[in-house]
Amino acid sequence: MNSLPESSWVFPADPKSNYLAHQEEIDAAVLGVLNSGFYILGKEVSAFESEFARYLGSAHVSGVGSGTEALHLALRACGIGAGDGVITVSHTAVATVAAIELAGGSPILVDVDRETLTIDPNRVEEVIKRYQGGEAAAKTRIKAIIPVHIYGQPADMVAIMEIARRNDLKVIEDCAQSNGAAIDGRKTGTWGDVATFSFYPTKNLSALGDGGALATNNRDIADRANLIREYGWQERYISDIPGFNTRLDEVQAAILRVKLRYLDAENDRRREIAREYDARLTPTGFKLPKSRDGLKHVYHQYVIRSSHRDELKQFLASRHIGSLIHYPMPVHLQPAYRGRLGDFGSLPQTEEAAGEILSLPMFPEISSEQINSVSDAILEFEQ
Ligand SMILES: *Cc1c(COP(=O)(O)O)cnc(C)c1O
Repeated sequence: MNSLPESSWVFPADPKSNYLAHQEEIDAAVLGVLNSGFYILGKEVSAFESEFARYLGSAHVSGVGSGTEALHLALRACGIGAGDGVITVSHTAVATVAAIELAGGSPILVDVDRETLTIDPNRVEEVIKRYQGGEAAAKTRIKAIIPVHIYGQPADMVAIMEIARRNDLKVIEDCAQSNGAAIDGRKTGTWGDVATFSFYPTKNLSALGDGGALATNNRDIADRANLIREYGWQERYISDIPGFNTRLDEVQAAILRVKLRYLDAENDRRREIAREYDARLTPTGFKLPKSRDGLKHVYHQYVIRSSHRDELKQFLASRHIGSLIHYPMPVHLQPAYRGRLGDFGSLPQTEEAAGEILSLPMFPEISSEQINSVSDAILEFEQ
């Protein structure tokens, strides 16, 4: 194959094009910070925290170093530690599960719903029963659930909150992929006790480096999180409780303040792109993403399913179209975790999905021409 210049590829995601779309404002914001002399937890971070809290409809936001650290901090702020079980999915970024162990907890992984690929409330009920009494209960007490709004599609929060209330469990929403998504007009991140966000450069609201946030309406959780994120300091150099260090820096906060103003418009554009893919690909045999009624899906990814996924991925690459798999191996099967986590039964939907899913190019700056060439290539592959 002749190698074409890089620019002839359709990338699966394109953080640079998002920077260029807002370059003047971002450059000015960054220069402002460089000249301010304050680089960590200063006025840009405070301003971003209040603006993001207002955007979400949440009382408190704390800027932190990454989405993984936001999850770790949220768990600790909820009092989760050694011997505590935390229910989540295996169909997620490994960060969700890694954070549970960072906090000292034990991940209990459940299967996802076949249609939405978000946590299946029935499986949550089942695993709670399985851990009531017996050997499992003696070792691990279930304390929390982390629903992941994977691909920008909200999980079934009404069902999850009802189960949590009945079983006295904390709910930590992993909103790394769902910034701006909503259920009946109420944003993801405002349903559970606390929510976490990632501003990794490809996420819907992204920094130009690492960043994350924790959001909550619970004053106690917010206060504890703010202590833990900086060594447990109320007063400088005096630790009230054991903490660590996960701080958002001023440069990233200034960039996020610019980009937050465009988040809704860019999410609208993502939904428009999804509709274009839907229209072009509906006649094919591929299973297209499906959203439940009343949900505002923000298409962090547009994920199709095919039993010929690997061949399709290769074919697209031969046409200079990049695609990705989110994620190729469920967490419970990865070498770091296999055979080591608790006894939570089999995860057939998760394992089947991992072999079939493919994320098509999706970013606000993709052109209609590029969407067409992706769609044309998929149609051609099917013939
Ligand atoms: C990206 C992501 C994270 C981790 O965020 P980082 O900022 O990369 O640490 C956690 N959970 C999910 C679902 C993610 O997509």
